[in-house]
Amino acid sequence: MSDAKPGALARYSLTKRVLVTGGAGFLGSHLCDRLLEDGHEVLCVDNFFTGARANIAHLLGHERFELLRHDITMPLSVEVDEIYNFACPASPIHYQFDPVQTTKTSVIGAINMLGLAKRLRVPILQASTSEVYGDPEIHPQTEDYWGNVNPIGPRSCYDEGKRCAETLFFDYRRQHDLPIKVVRIFNTYGPRMHPNDGRVVSNFILQALRGEDITIFGDGEQTRSFCYVDDLIDGCVRMMGTDADTTGPVNIGNEGEYSMLELAETVLDIVGGKSQLVHKPLPQDDPRRRKPDTMLAREMLGWEATTKLRDGLAKTIAYFEQSGHADASRSD
Ligand code: NAD
Ligand code: UDP
Ligand code: UDP
Repeated sequence: MSDAKPGALARYSLTKRVLVTGGAGFLGSHLCDRLLEDGHEVLCVDNFFTGARANIAHLLGHERFELLRHDITMPLSVEVDEIYNFACPASPIHYQFDPVQTTKTSVIGAINMLGLAKRLRVPILQASTSEVYGDPEIHPQTEDYWGNVNPIGPRSCYDEGKRCAETLFFDYRRQHDLPIKVVRIFNTYGPRMHPNDGRVVSNFILQALRGEDITIFGDGEQTRSFCYVDDLIDGCVRMMGTDADTTGPVNIGNEGEYSMLELAETVLDIVGGKSQLVHKPLPQDDPRRRKPDTMLAREMLGWEATTKLRDGLAKTIAYFEQSGHADASRSD
């Protein structure tokens, strides 16, 4: 019996066995696609809280793809060469549905995945978020900004959970010399977004396709920067490929900044139709402005987002059109 660890095996082969937690979700499923395309084996772990079988249905017969239904708040004993920790509900509607479970997933889930990485001595990448900056007081947000987060509000389970996960990653690095990687993901959109999780891109597209009113929360002057999913995944894969001393955190996002009114106009321009803009109340703690500073990603990873908003929106609209979700009678 060989005593080689999975990490050691990986050094002799370009093919790795890669664990993707949250692999049946929006971003995780695209990451599974990319890793398989790159020739790796993928172990997708998901509890299907917000993930969908449809997102990975095309991979189920693939010889290098394996699916495990599991909740990462429970220990997990598997043998892999790399870990991407993407499990966590990401939209406000989903993460506020069971906020205690959201914090558990971020914190206990991180401890379990870090414990796994520690036993195997393999690199682990955390899908962190621009939400660690909260409602930011500096603009654009650089990685050295500590953030402005309400610790007791309705978004806190997500924001503080993700902040605590980052703390755990850096403590495992300091205490156990673990090769960690932390990416702070800014708003990402593309095919396989949830049709009804209330995110602005999917809401506006579906409303436009159905000819319904476009719901602008507040005055619509608040801004976000939207990154197309393929760009985002490429940034994450590049980050995993860096040397053991490169930990991040690094912002991964598109620097184009748009108000929600501009986004609505762009969607309507592509879709056509006769939807009207209507204003609804702004949710509590809704950040006013958000835009990544991506200088570090450019320097460290040679990465920048290249998909223009209009092009990415056109692909996303095409996905929603062919998926049947624009049919007003469907609610899934
Ligand atoms: P998603 O909800 O589509 O995917 C999350 C996946 O994790 C789902 O498949 C869900 O079933 C699974 N999951 C949730 N809790 C779990 C648990 N306890 N055990 C196992 N699986 C669990 O969301 P997404 O947009 O794909 O986000 C993926 C990751 O990226 C998340 O960690 C999120 O915080 C982060 N992120 C996403 C965005 C974005 O714009 N989409 C922005 C910043 C950060
Ligand atoms: N863990 C796991 N899989 C492993 C190794 C550890 O899920 O292969 C979990 C384990 O249950 C523990 C957590 O990771 O709760 C943290 O492990 P660590 O070794 O850091 O801490 P300890 O076990 O000493 O509490
Ligand atoms: N928003 C909106 N209409 C909608 C959904 C969202 O105007 O139908 C706004 C929301 O208030 C926020 C922005 O769009 O200012 C982005 O919201 P989303 O939930 O997509 O992302 P997050 O707030 O987490 O960045």
